[in-house]
Amino acid sequence: MVDADDRPLFELTHRFADELPELCMAWTGATVPDPQVLVVDDELAKELGIDPADLRTSAAAQVLVGSLVLPGSEPVAMGYAGHQFGGYSPRLGDGRALLLGELHDTDGRELDLHLKGSGRTPFSRGGDGKAAIGPMLREHVVSRAMHALGIATTRSLAVTTTGEDVRRDEGLLPGAVLARVAASHLRVGTFQYAAAMDDPALVRRLADHAIARHHPAAARAEQPYLALYQAVSDAQAALVAQWMLVGFIHGVMNTDNTTISGETIDYGPCAFMDAFDPATVFSSIDHGGRYAFGNQPQIVQWNLARLAEALLPLLADDQDEAIALATEVLNSFPEHYVAAWSAGMRTKLGLIDEHDDDTQLFDDLLRLLHEQQVDHTSALRSLSASVRGDAEPARSLFRDPGAFDAWSARHLARVDDASADRGAVASHMDRVNPIYIPRNHLVDEALAAATTGDLAPFERLVDVISQPYDERPGLERYAQPAPAGFGDGFQTFCGT
Ligand code: AMP
Ligand code: MG
Repeated sequence: MVDADDRPLFELTHRFADELPELCMAWTGATVPDPQVLVVDDELAKELGIDPADLRTSAAAQVLVGSLVLPGSEPVAMGYAGHQFGGYSPRLGDGRALLLGELHDTDGRELDLHLKGSGRTPFSRGGDGKAAIGPMLREHVVSRAMHALGIATTRSLAVTTTGEDVRRDEGLLPGAVLARVAASHLRVGTFQYAAAMDDPALVRRLADHAIARHHPAAARAEQPYLALYQAVSDAQAALVAQWMLVGFIHGVMNTDNTTISGETIDYGPCAFMDAFDPATVFSSIDHGGRYAFGNQPQIVQWNLARLAEALLPLLADDQDEAIALATEVLNSFPEHYVAAWSAGMRTKLGLIDEHDDDTQLFDDLLRLLHEQQVDHTSALRSLSASVRGDAEPARSLFRDPGAFDAWSARHLARVDDASADRGAVASHMDRVNPIYIPRNHLVDEALAAATTGDLAPFERLVDVISQPYDERPGLERYAQPAPAGFGDGFQTFCGT
């Protein structure tokens, strides 16, 4: 397919397929009856040097479902393993996905273009290889929100309907394919898969690929593979700190859903928490609460331990020495996480400098939110009003405002301690505490409408969450916590 200049829509390379053929299989997407591009992230398209209008053509739709292979490209299904809810699966892989290849954005950054829902592959096991429109639109809107919040994430370029129904527990649903752009699709599970092949040279090639693409500074370190491990650990510590600061619950933090780049990946049963509670779990399959909100940092650390196991042969010739090196990095994870989280909390509370008793201030706020079941996003956003001298927006969220008043007095004293300009501090706070996030009741409502053919609520929601910090008139509804009773028993699904 060509555009007016006779240039193909995408210039795709096949670096992963060339460098790591053992970890993928050449494959193409299924032919579908009537592909129609439903939504496009115009901003992302432009970053890729693509005119968004070119993505809304029927020829583009064929490419975006994977049935039309662009000349020169070599699409592959990627192999990976993974610990799912703690149990090891040696062969997962792209069961309904395809790596179309790599492309470059206008800044020259190399990115993967990947499809989800494009049909069965050699990794499909019992699955149908397809995706329903609701979960793909869910990934589109939540990943766009994460990007707008400044959180590292894979991004959805487009969602394309297939014109074919897929069978799920709810019945027959319209099918769709997500086109996703990511720094790469290397996962902890990719390393586990390579390590299981018992070929240290393969793990080394994979590690070299990961270093070149994501952590190039590691190549110059004295011990490049240890530096890679440290870099992945740091990136993941920073990422999960961001999740915790906005109340994001990934929902299915298996090692195959943990990236080497440090980007959030695989928006399945994910959701934002409403009332603050570390025990919050939304996923219908997370019976034990393994991936509850408050467990997320320690789960990342657990997943990094699995990465260490795969990397051991590269860390030192002597296994005990390799274990000691990896353990040192792993044990420093909590410190890196707490530093990233505390720095974020400080910014959210408008504190410019660092104080010994900040941790106490943070913990006391979260305890109050938990005890009084206060909406996490609204509470943090309301604190800038308190700094401006209007305590009411925050007070009104608490059943017992007296307890909040006592905390607020301490908070304001700290703010004044650090800065003489409360107005400037409050403005800074509004740039880091979102007012609009994809709240569960809004996402549910938008997806239900889209599934029956009305895309308007979805498009409105995408517009709202794309500017999460700017309060805009007429959007009051989007800033409100879920209606009473909505959260009770609210569940999310993998959509597989
Ligand atoms: P996920 O829960 O989306 O991270 O997927 C876990 C594994 O199940 C991956 O190997 C997926 O490719 C595979 N999978 C999920 N849904 C399907 C499906 N409908 N058909 C085939 N494989 C699937
Ligand atoms: Mg996955």
